[in-house]
Amino acid sequence: MQEAPTQAPNLRYLKGIGPKRALILEKLGVCTLRDLFYYFPRRYEDRSHLRPIEEVRAGEPVTLKGTVLSTRLKRFRGISILEVHLGDKTGMIPAVWFNQPYLQAQFEEGREVIFFGKPDLRNDRLQMNSPEFEILDPEEEAVHTGRITPIYPLTEGLYQKTLRGVFHEAVQQHLDGLIAEYLPEDFRETRGLLPLPQAVREMHFPSSQELLDKARHRIVFDEFFVFQVLLFQKLELMKARHKAQPLRAEPAHLEEFRSALPFQLTSGQEEALSEIAAELALEIPMNRLLMGDVGSGKTVLGAFVMFLAAKLGRQAVMLVPTEILANQHLQTLKKLLQPAGITVKMLSSATAPAVREKMLAELKQGKLSCAIGTHALLQEDVRFASLAAVVIDEQHKFGVYQRCQLLNRELRPHQLVMTATPIPRTLALTVYGDLSVSAVKTLPAGRQPIKTYWITRQKQPEVLRHMLEKIKKGEQAYFIYPLIDETEKSDMRAATAGYDALRKGPFKDAKVGLVHGRMPGEERDAIMRDFKDGKIQALVATSVVEVGVDNPNATMMVIENAERFGLSQLHQMRGRVGRGQKPSECFLFGEPTTDEGKKRLRIMTKTQDGFVIAEEDLKLRGPGDFLGTRQSGEPLFRVAHPVLDQEILLEARAAATEVVKGPDWEQNPRWAALKKFLDHFPIRY
Ligand code: ADP
Ligand code: MG
Repeated sequence: MQEAPTQAPNLRYLKGIGPKRALILEKLGVCTLRDLFYYFPRRYEDRSHLRPIEEVRAGEPVTLKGTVLSTRLKRFRGISILEVHLGDKTGMIPAVWFNQPYLQAQFEEGREVIFFGKPDLRNDRLQMNSPEFEILDPEEEAVHTGRITPIYPLTEGLYQKTLRGVFHEAVQQHLDGLIAEYLPEDFRETRGLLPLPQAVREMHFPSSQELLDKARHRIVFDEFFVFQVLLFQKLELMKARHKAQPLRAEPAHLEEFRSALPFQLTSGQEEALSEIAAELALEIPMNRLLMGDVGSGKTVLGAFVMFLAAKLGRQAVMLVPTEILANQHLQTLKKLLQPAGITVKMLSSATAPAVREKMLAELKQGKLSCAIGTHALLQEDVRFASLAAVVIDEQHKFGVYQRCQLLNRELRPHQLVMTATPIPRTLALTVYGDLSVSAVKTLPAGRQPIKTYWITRQKQPEVLRHMLEKIKKGEQAYFIYPLIDETEKSDMRAATAGYDALRKGPFKDAKVGLVHGRMPGEERDAIMRDFKDGKIQALVATSVVEVGVDNPNATMMVIENAERFGLSQLHQMRGRVGRGQKPSECFLFGEPTTDEGKKRLRIMTKTQDGFVIAEEDLKLRGPGDFLGTRQSGEPLFRVAHPVLDQEILLEARAAATEVVKGPDWEQNPRWAALKKFLDHFPIRY
């Protein structure tokens, strides 16, 4: 979208913003007043309820208002301690600050002050430790305190209070006229939406919790609604412009493909296969999401799409997020496709220039029918003679519109997106528009459940002994570390150190190997092969094995510093065990310090269901990974949460459909303001 022209006054002429602050704001993407209004608070603090000092309890956060009775600056073993006594009609409470003696000057005796914080009990006496505070100025009362107070995302050089003052000024002086309603009144009212200017005002300075909720609803609605309208526009354009090459699978094709497989397809795979085959036969481009848990066998379905395209004299590519995964899939694809006389080659950023050049020429001339690769395949100079299908693995690592680079062609390729992290259907529809979904719900026969345990430090030796017993019986183990070196945190036991400790210590009688991402590819491959062949019994690895490795004899996994990984990542890694006939175990070594970290580990011990884990992950982390991000790297939505706000999402989707399905909506005066609003919307998709 184009940068919107604006008649709004330049930010730096706003009271409280000089050239310096204007520059800081610019870095935050706030260049105009309109941007400023859409720079919403990160959270709110309800400072409308002040507590009398006599009701203060240890451990309960409170807002207190009172008068500075006295201050005292002490020194103790080289530490300065500032003590400020705050009093109201009901009592007195001290607050202390360490090594901030300069604060004393602000607390003039007799000044009205507000403290926010959690009082502690010290020597049987209540006290506040470095509370947040505000020295009251009667004129500022309405802005900072005695209300639901906005807390803005801060950056260096900006102070909360200053920023809040700027916002207050802007909202008072400039909001009317600049933020205008763009929806017809009846359309807005039937949906119970707050008028836009009021919503923006309430987002910054809520007059009550109820109005804040309504304001947020309106802003969330707008984000979804605008996104949907733009997406529909884009899809309409694509549909009008592009047809696909039908890829019709004859029974002989299916037979040939099946006969090259070393196993029988599961019922889930068969079902997905017929859905895919049916859609590929059409002139309408397939746009299908293939969901299936880790290990459910999605790759073979991607291989089928490529097989068919090649058999019919067309080309196909498979896009994967990492080089390791590309390598692994290359081996798999070769096994599946070579018997049918189909050549597959791989392209990544590490491909030697000469090899790359040759490969590009072959693709352009149509001599090579199947390619697999990383983002390197998306580069401008990669051309195809007849690209008919694109398979994308682990789609959430590619941005939403990144894919368009391959899809925006005269004849649009069919598309199969494979993901192990299922997306709620409403969300998928929202982001992809028209999209069909296949799910591989079955796992290949004989898969064993993986028992998962969260292990604290004291229990680790015991677990290692248990593992060694099993290793002696011929089973194998992974040890996964989040980092390669000890560069980040001194308490991180990195893979290399872990490897040394393990082979010299508890596992000195076992064969231990090490792989990490910075090893030369050949060395890494050799070690992986040794592991697969059983020559290595315990493999220490960084998260490079997250996707890629397949060794059914590996039945144990230790994930070190497990609290460092996200849920989906943990689930993916765990999926490397439990692939054979014997039961598997996964040990999460971790000492999470945050509630979220603890929750993640607990969820992992409770469920192995990828769908449940994906939902939980979405709730904990937000949907960034699923939706991809905008080009700037920011999340797609600023205020809206596509999972938690699903109801509003559906509402907005219906509303957007109503608009764009109307005849010639873009010419209709009813939507003239909307069209203008789309150009001005501060989020550019
Ligand atoms: P994912 O869905 O996680 O990408 P993969 O495609 O990598 O799973 O398959 C996991 C493993 O299961 C591979 O070793 C693959 O060869 C094997 N596999 C796939 N389909 C079947 C099947 N129908 N029967 C037995 N093994 C299968
Ligand atoms: Mg896979």
